[in-house]
Amino acid sequence: MPKELASSPPLITTKLPGPNSARLIAEDERYTSPSYTRVYPLVVRRAQGAMIEDMDGNRFLDFTAGIAVCATGHCHPRVVQAIRVQSERLLHMSGTDFYYQPQSDLARKLVQITPGNGPKRVFFTNSGAESVEAAFKLARYHTRRPHVIAFFGAFHGRTMGALSLTGSKTRQRAGFAPLVPEVSHVDFPDCYQCPRRTTNDSCCWKTFEQIEDDLFRRTVSPDEVAAFFVEPIQGEGGYIVPPHDFHVRLKRLAEQHGILFIADEVQSGMGRTGRMFAMEHWGVEPDIMCLAKGIASGMPLGAIVAKEEVMNWPPGSHASTFGGNPISCVAALKTIQLLEDGLIQDAADVGAYLRQRLLDLMPRYEMLGDVRGLGLMVGVEIVADRVSRKRAPEKAKSIVQAAFRRGLLLLTCGENTLRFCPPLVVSRDQVDMGINILEEVLRSEV
Ligand code: PLP
Repeated sequence: MPKELASSPPLITTKLPGPNSARLIAEDERYTSPSYTRVYPLVVRRAQGAMIEDMDGNRFLDFTAGIAVCATGHCHPRVVQAIRVQSERLLHMSGTDFYYQPQSDLARKLVQITPGNGPKRVFFTNSGAESVEAAFKLARYHTRRPHVIAFFGAFHGRTMGALSLTGSKTRQRAGFAPLVPEVSHVDFPDCYQCPRRTTNDSCCWKTFEQIEDDLFRRTVSPDEVAAFFVEPIQGEGGYIVPPHDFHVRLKRLAEQHGILFIADEVQSGMGRTGRMFAMEHWGVEPDIMCLAKGIASGMPLGAIVAKEEVMNWPPGSHASTFGGNPISCVAALKTIQLLEDGLIQDAADVGAYLRQRLLDLMPRYEMLGDVRGLGLMVGVEIVADRVSRKRAPEKAKSIVQAAFRRGLLLLTCGENTLRFCPPLVVSRDQVDMGINILEEVLRSEV
């Protein structure tokens, strides 16, 4: 077993899954929910930086970061140390009813680092869905308006409110109706699929037609709309970066009608795109921002940060027993410090390098339809060929499987997009290793 897993290359020495992993999988599958979607038979024993070791000593390069969570890498020693120290002081006291230092410190820090200089307030949760749920409730409470507008392709989580906003896959909603009423979905602008792509014209037109002509004129008056819920870059929907003017126009429309602009930065926030928050790329200041995933490097934590005048709900109107747990809060404070001390810049630099390496592959592989993203949130759309741009979901899935067998962990998003969201500590050498594995796969397996 290598001492420094973080600096070891990927190495597969057994068939996959190996015997120890296979035993655990058999046991696990007897007892856990069949709703889980295990993409490949990976059983993680330990992890460091961007490397993972399975139960049989096989080593994998992790370009998933536990679904865009482990921002500072797996088990960053300074995050682990902060957790260790805090765990000997206080495990839990419930920030809903009592005060403790880590939660207050983190609230102040989040107010300081989120876009906008005005006063803001923070509500703590345990997950992305809970953050979205809290934002949904706050939007209705504050505006006293019932309706919200979200986007097709969006993923906001699985609880009833968050699921009602999710417009990603039918499977996620099937069988759970009735969902929360008064939610409409409109198209998220996808430049790659846009018929106007060749005219150099922004592809937002369809979205704004749907909102202003279809919804506002035919089904819901804008003064009944509490909020737009939008991901800065669609995550589960396929790592779709909207055209440059989209968020600015959406925000302008929101202001025109007194509608709140809610940014779901659960996946795109905390340095992932090379800025602390993705909305900074467009200079848009949300009324409410939803956070989770990368915020505490793997500890369960979420938060919403809202303008002070928006977060006007009274005591008892919303709360959470575990939200803002002291251990998660110290992990978040350490994570933010590491991000500010250089990891955000690394994400921007190494992300640009990763995108360039992927773009360099395009001339050789017709199935690579599009390479897009910001920082270390990068997607590669897999298509039948670049002329038809026909989506090739089966090909994308088989690339992910073949990469796993060679020691590279990838996931898909959308129907047919390879998702690259490694820990922000990933090095250029590791990017090279990952690209080499991907190229072997593209050459031989697909
Ligand atoms: N919002 C976005 C943008 C997400 O990507 C996700 C999860 O993938 C969620 C919300 C839900 O987060 P969680 O799984 O922590 O509930």
